[in-house]
Amino acid sequence: MIYDLPTHTVVAVIGGGHAGAEAALASARLGVDTVLFTLSLDAIGNLPCNPSIGGTAKGHLVYEIDALGGEMGKVADAVTLQSRTLNLGKGAAVHSKRVQADRMAYHSQMKHTLEMTDHLRVVQAEIVEILTENGAVSAVVTSLGEIWTCQKVIMATGTYLGGRIFIGNKNYASGPDNSLPALGLTDSLKRLGLPMMRFKTGTPARIKRASVDLSVLEVQEGEEEITPFSSLTDPQKFKNFEQIPCHIVYTNAETHRVILNNIHRSAMYSGQITGTGPRYCPSIEDKLKRFADKERHQLFVEPMGKDNEELYLQGFSTSLPTDVQYAMLRTLKGFEKAEIMRYAYAIEYDCIDPTCLLATLECKLVSGLYGAGQFNGTSGYEEAAAQGLVAGINAALSVLKREQIILPRSGSYIGTLIDDLVTKGTNEPYRMMTSRSEFRLILRQDNADLRLTPLGYEVGLISEERYQRFLEKKALEDAEKQRLNTTYLSPERVNPFLDIFGLDHVKSGVSLGDLLRRPQLTYQDLIQLDTNRPQLPSSVIKTVEVDIKYEGYIKRELNEVARQEKLENKKLPLNLDYTTIRGLRLEAGQKLEKIKPLTIGQASRISGVSPADITVLLLYLGLK
Ligand SMILES: Cc1cc2nc3c(=O)[nH]c(=O)nc-3n(C[C@H](O)[C@H](O)[C@H](O)COP(=O)(O)OP(=O)(O)OC[C@H]3O[C@@H](n4cnc5c(N)ncnc54)[C@H](O)[C@@H]3O)c2cc1C
Repeated sequence: MIYDLPTHTVVAVIGGGHAGAEAALASARLGVDTVLFTLSLDAIGNLPCNPSIGGTAKGHLVYEIDALGGEMGKVADAVTLQSRTLNLGKGAAVHSKRVQADRMAYHSQMKHTLEMTDHLRVVQAEIVEILTENGAVSAVVTSLGEIWTCQKVIMATGTYLGGRIFIGNKNYASGPDNSLPALGLTDSLKRLGLPMMRFKTGTPARIKRASVDLSVLEVQEGEEEITPFSSLTDPQKFKNFEQIPCHIVYTNAETHRVILNNIHRSAMYSGQITGTGPRYCPSIEDKLKRFADKERHQLFVEPMGKDNEELYLQGFSTSLPTDVQYAMLRTLKGFEKAEIMRYAYAIEYDCIDPTCLLATLECKLVSGLYGAGQFNGTSGYEEAAAQGLVAGINAALSVLKREQIILPRSGSYIGTLIDDLVTKGTNEPYRMMTSRSEFRLILRQDNADLRLTPLGYEVGLISEERYQRFLEKKALEDAEKQRLNTTYLSPERVNPFLDIFGLDHVKSGVSLGDLLRRPQLTYQDLIQLDTNRPQLPSSVIKTVEVDIKYEGYIKRELNEVARQEKLENKKLPLNLDYTTIRGLRLEAGQKLEKIKPLTIGQASRISGVSPADITVLLLYLGLK
């Protein structure tokens, strides 16, 4: 007797990592029946590499995920061990929050959130095949032979697909941290015609805290005033918040000698590894090769949890054999008696060429199939979560017969990330950086809610109550900007104040806004002149101050946004045969045919497509 199995769903999410979790939550929270499959429930929301969330540009992604209704920001706030804002010495556009996160607490908090979400089932099973009917997904098959019917599938398989770990001359099939790899699915994807790639990444060893003399190392404390990632986190949580410090140690000549003398034994340098690694997270071997003249490299010693004695050595990832790992480690000051709890390793895995995806993250080749995270060729928890959120929203909106969302580059780093992937592709693990955006000044952490919360509300992931709070915050910002720009003070009042800062006198009345536009003066400085100012939350003050100070530059970027929007509004039919358009250069025709851009704007960003080609296209389509 074969019994019926409850193996029917609407959206099947393959993966319980950062992409899969956000995708499943978004789809289920929009009321669509969703099942999340993962190889192990005990690895949901795992942080297999650095135990931190955020950092340069990654912090922006976390704020954007939160503003759009995602989960990462809330969980990161809940499990913060230490918080710091990076790049404070630079302009506001690159100020980036980064927290040390408690690895086990992150996992259990995310797992519990998934378990407590309506319309969502979490199932421990390996998916080995995707079935299709008439070019659209129809079911997924588990390694136990169960067939789960579904309308949409979101691929978020991370570093597990065809996973293989390398340590010295040893390698074996494995997911991160010696977990099970996913070995069946790649062939199924190849049969569906998906363009697969082989990438690699690496992680450093984990060291037993008690075996390291931290007292001889530089201490890196957290910041005094902590602003949460999520607008749903009560900032009071971080008042007098006890933080766990990080430490700093440097490599030295002996470290370099040990590594360089044994570099031929590294899996990376002995030619075993064929996958392409991330340029911006190089192994220590790569760093010594690339920056041979550098006498020392800075390493960060990071805590992994409150009840966790493992320390993470940021900047020391390697695929050298275990004996060399010990030798190089014990050359570091304070690490002379260090004990390794987990060896460093490199891991190779399969992912797709993301140019086979539309800007909705749906696959052009198989309808109803979406990709997110490391599977799309990116690297990083934040990059993965951002894509998972968009893929989850779009799979659900498609089921609900509502228009899917496409985030423009001018509106968010998430939009920039996805557009780079689907328009330009990537030949190495893609990591987000502020330099990837041409709109840095308007894509700041502090205004992520202004840019994305209205869309999150429209989609249905932001509650009415939260939206009203957002509108109140926006109203406070607008009112304060208005007040500063319309509050005028006489020269008699202002000049003694300017003397304090050694600044030139004014001859006529000036507004508080004018004074704030002076690079030497801050909103805090003006309190001496502005005694009746309203009590405002620091998050509001941050946005007001930056918007007024950089007003001119912001205006210029907004003009560029308007120009781009014109091009983005010129839609292109998906079934256009570019190879038949007369006047289009061969290379351009081939590139356009491969990418199938959705707009003239996207077409203009494809490498190998010139402005002249765009003119031919506009004329051909009667858009000029
Ligand atoms: C060794 C290592 C080093 C790294 N170094 C860095 C770094 O230096 N910098 C950086 O930014 N990022 C780094 N990362 C990457 C970071 O971990 C990932 O970017 C992030 O975890 C990707 O999230 P994801 O959701 O795409 O995939 P993952 O977090 O890998 O999750 C994938 C999920 O898919 C599930 N799964 C896979 N296949 C199947 C299947 N067939 N059936 C069912 N479930 C399946 C797994 O169980 C898992 O739950 C590193 C990762 C590793 C492993």
